[in-house]
Amino acid sequence: MIIKPKVRGFICTNAHPEGCAANVREQIEYIKSQAPLGEGPKNVLIVGASTGYGLASRITAAFGYGAKTLGFFFEKPASEKRTGSAGFYNSAAFEAEASAANLYAKSINGDAFSNEAKRQAIEIIKQDLGKVDLVIYSLASPRRIDPETGETFSSALKPIGQSYTEKNLNTDTLKIADMTVETASDEEIANTVKVMGGEDWELWIDALKQADVLEQNCKTVAYTYIGDKLTWPIYGKATIGKAKEDLDRAANEINQSLSDLGGQANVAVLKALVTQSSSAIPIMPLYISILYKVMKEEGSHEGCIEQLHRLYTEGLYSEAPRLDDINRFRMDNRELTEAVQSKVEAIWPQVTEENLFELTDYKGYNAEFLKLFGFGNSDIDYDQDISPLVDVKF
Ligand code: NAD
Repeated sequence: MIIKPKVRGFICTNAHPEGCAANVREQIEYIKSQAPLGEGPKNVLIVGASTGYGLASRITAAFGYGAKTLGFFFEKPASEKRTGSAGFYNSAAFEAEASAANLYAKSINGDAFSNEAKRQAIEIIKQDLGKVDLVIYSLASPRRIDPETGETFSSALKPIGQSYTEKNLNTDTLKIADMTVETASDEEIANTVKVMGGEDWELWIDALKQADVLEQNCKTVAYTYIGDKLTWPIYGKATIGKAKEDLDRAANEINQSLSDLGGQANVAVLKALVTQSSSAIPIMPLYISILYKVMKEEGSHEGCIEQLHRLYTEGLYSEAPRLDDINRFRMDNRELTEAVQSKVEAIWPQVTEENLFELTDYKGYNAEFLKLFGFGNSDIDYDQDISPLVDVKF
């Protein structure tokens, strides 16, 4: 099969196995180049381990600290006729690299919101690891099936209180036009909290604790984004922001329930960058294109793996972690400086279709987007006929 990108709107419906493997190797090399990282995790469960921040969390644990990792994700396997999803190929590549480096790695492809996923995780932990000392919660999903009632909830990306009109870049046509997003109903807000809030994170930790597979002094972290004025109406102060606020509530609950183990739960605030999830959020592609331009110019640009390296070394395993007033690790500090935000805000109103490539780093954004699916790597011959099938144990 000759595999070229098939982009539909904000998603790419196929992926290149060799390109994805190269991306995984690049992140591994970055983390190895930062060694030694000092004291860190030994046995790690990552929920949402195949792409974006979860994959970088797994790579950092394994190749930065030599940790054993158990990863959960929801990905499309490859067949003779269709490529697998990027996360499927990433995970295949991660397992191959881990095995070559003699690192324990096991992966489960299935619905992490289900009770069955928790049961499977507990069984594998008991059998192979004994206990886990770090649980990373990095799910991003548009829907969730409630494990008790079987009801499906869908999240919405909408403002709260009033509709919102803002300039938006259509990444298919490169047209820039005002876009209006209607205000969310109470039901849409509640459903978004149900999908992306803290309930499932709590269910995971409860199940692990009840099964006695959490180590003394274990840590758990879930990821959020806060942003600033430009993105607040569609993110921070919108339906998704409400769901993320619920993570703060859940972190408090989990902290109480882990107190007898000396355990610790935190939310980590990470920066905006191109992932499959962020490219689906209105406004974000243009915001990120401008942000990349500004941060690359000032030399503070970071991708998933650089963020995760800092989260482990300056947050989770630091003796003086950078926490905010509600106990969240702040890794978005470089994005939110006054200097960066004021430059982004100054560029925002000036951007037009004509100057898009000059005033923003849309070129970089688009290259990063294609890279998520294994495309655009100059070392790979995309005209070559290859098999979409890869060797996997999950
Ligand atoms: P992503 O789309 O790259 O990764 C999502 C992961 O969740 C994948 O591994 C996917 O397989 C898994 N997943 C989705 N549904 C699942 C299910 N039902 N069962 C098992 N696995 C499932 O997203 P991301 O951008 O890396 O987001 C991860 C977290 O980081 C989210 O909480 C997100 O809000 C947060 N975050 C993202 C950004 C950003 O700019 N991308 C910024 C800050 C915080």
